Amino acid sequence: MISRPKGTNDILPDEIWRWHKLEAMIRKECACFGFKEIRTPIFEETHLFQRSIGEATDIVEKEMYTFLDKGGRSMTLRPEGTAAVVRAFVENNLKGAGLPAKLYYLGPMFRYERPQAGRYRQFHQFGIECFGSLEPALDAEVIMLAHELYQKIGVKDVVLKINSIGCPDCRPKYLEKLRSELAKYKDRLCENCQRRSITNPLRVLDCKEEKCQEVIADLPHLQDYLCDECSLHFTNLKKILDIWELPYVEEPRLVRGFDYYTKTVFEFCFDDLGAQNAIGAGGRYDKLVEEIGGESTPAVGFAMGMERTLLAVGDKWQKEPEIDLYIVSIGQETKEEALRQLLLARRHGIRTEMDILNRSVKAQFKQADRLDTKYCLILGPDELKDNRVKLRNMQSGEESEYQISEWLGGLKL
Ligand code: ATP
Ligand code: MG
Repeated sequence: MISRPKGTNDILPDEIWRWHKLEAMIRKECACFGFKEIRTPIFEETHLFQRSIGEATDIVEKEMYTFLDKGGRSMTLRPEGTAAVVRAFVENNLKGAGLPAKLYYLGPMFRYERPQAGRYRQFHQFGIECFGSLEPALDAEVIMLAHELYQKIGVKDVVLKINSIGCPDCRPKYLEKLRSELAKYKDRLCENCQRRSITNPLRVLDCKEEKCQEVIADLPHLQDYLCDECSLHFTNLKKILDIWELPYVEEPRLVRGFDYYTKTVFEFCFDDLGAQNAIGAGGRYDKLVEEIGGESTPAVGFAMGMERTLLAVGDKWQKEPEIDLYIVSIGQETKEEALRQLLLARRHGIRTEMDILNRSVKAQFKQADRLDTKYCLILGPDELKDNRVKLRNMQSGEESEYQISEWLGGLKL
């Protein structure tokens, strides 16, 4: 037997309704906030991700699905959405259509990670990217959409963590300090962090290893090194969140795994999920558009992990019935009429099933129950002779007789 690749999932017909429901909520919320969908390729030239996410990040160093195509070009299955959206924003001159540009995407992402609960090699993200303003109102717009969406989805105890990681003006000073501090504790860091403390010291703050956590707790705070502009930006963002009464926690160690972030970074956590408790995250990236070759345009983005969000929803959602009508035919002589009524009902947009396995009447009713149908149309040989049929409301049990040309009018869907 051939199995699916490690770290991937089959989303089965039984659970797809949860995905459809989540996607419908996402699209509705995006419409409400004025975000429009963009669909970019699932693979891009490798150097797009190297340039944007950063060479010395976990994703680029070890998690990318990279391959040479038949033309010898290095391609990579997208590990995240922002780089590709920014590429498309620049390439298609979306700035020309006016700013702010408010875009969203939905789809699979690929990272070669160690699979575990809530961590897969193919997973799905919903994300938004908002281009065109240096104002904290842009950050707030993105955070508010994410917050509202989690509330509507029913993940109410989600915790918003925010931080500012500064800009190319103020961060280098902090990084210098961080490097010298980390050098002192080198022996107490994991192997990965020993390397990162030189190549990309900010990443050390993101390390989940316990022994590194101990060192991290004593490190200086980035917030104490912010320049006036970054500091004011952060204060003003918090003011807007306060106006909306959106609760947040300031998390001075929050840095996120991408190099492109400037100023604001944030994360939404749901603690019941254990180690993989981040169900969404994002930040501001004022230099990325330029980095990818566009005219300098500040921007903010957010990405939600859809599998983890659905794990957080748990069994809070009720499945809606998936069919409206089941046609029960009693005896062979009613089968022809059942076929006609089946087509008629479906042509009217009614979700309809009938038996095609030649089941007994009892088994047909059982199947109707299993499918959780709202109505049964019952074709009995005696009634049919008088052109009459019965319609049974499966919730109330109420049954009415109709002329065969009139039963459709008896459905209340
Ligand atoms: P983590 O800290 O869990 O590794 P991350 O910082 O790598 O997350 P992002 O790249 O910011 O995550 O992606 C945004 C969201 O996508 C995460 O908050 C998470 O919900 C989800 N996500 C990231 N990686 C995976 C994965 N391998 N499998 C499932 N969901 C993921
Ligand atoms: Mg990760």
